[in-house]
Amino acid sequence: MTATENVHLHEINKFGSMAERWWDTEGEFKTLHDINPLRLEFIRRYADIEGKRIVDVGCGGGILTEALAKHGVDAMGIDLSADLVDIAELHGLESGVTAHYQTISAEALAQQQPAGFDHVTCMEMLEHVPDPGSIVSACAQLVKPGGMVFFSTLNRQPKAYLLAIVAAEHILQMLPKGTHDFKTFIKPSELSQVARSVGLELQGMVGIEYNPFTKRFSLGKDVKVNYIAAFRRSE
Ligand code: SAH
Repeated sequence: MTATENVHLHEINKFGSMAERWWDTEGEFKTLHDINPLRLEFIRRYADIEGKRIVDVGCGGGILTEALAKHGVDAMGIDLSADLVDIAELHGLESGVTAHYQTISAEALAQQQPAGFDHVTCMEMLEHVPDPGSIVSACAQLVKPGGMVFFSTLNRQPKAYLLAIVAAEHILQMLPKGTHDFKTFIKPSELSQVARSVGLELQGMVGIEYNPFTKRFSLGKDVKVNYIAAFRRSE
């Protein structure tokens, strides 16, 4: 990995240090497990995924990548944490779900395989990199014209500070302390603008809402905390 790559090493190490617990559905990454069916549902609203080639950028231990593969996707997961890529591969061996994983940056893969994928997913990752615009641009290069790119991230709104940091990290302890830094959150308007500048047109966006009473997540209108968006690459 070169020093000029678009990566915060402390972020990679932070996630990598928790690698073994990635698939513990009651552990630190419970939230990712809980929201995964909703992400898949959203993706399937906009894209026919069966038999398609999809790259999952910043795949972590492969929670979404594997779910895609289970739905007949030729899925590839990439992440700059080699520890997490190992965990994703190992989990795939155990579950018997075949996806391919590689420790490579989105930018480098985009150079190697421009327009190499039918669709691209990039979940809960943009808020962990120095230059999210560069990731959005790489995703636009990775997808074929007409293909879909999906992003989810946290909104830089006071409500996200209160819920995603104060409540989730400190009060309810749903996420490890220090998982998120409010400054790195991205407003939907900012994401749409940078996406548009690289040829990605917004098709739809919904909030991933949490109900603290039922402890359940759902897709809804409130994008003030966590949101997921679908973009189409222009033909
Ligand atoms: N997308 C997964 C994991 C989200 S956690 C999911 O939602 O289930 C954020 C992930 O981004 C971690 O796995 C971390 O290692 C990865 N990451 C952070 N910076 C990265 C970068 N510059 N390139 C690739 N992956 C990165």
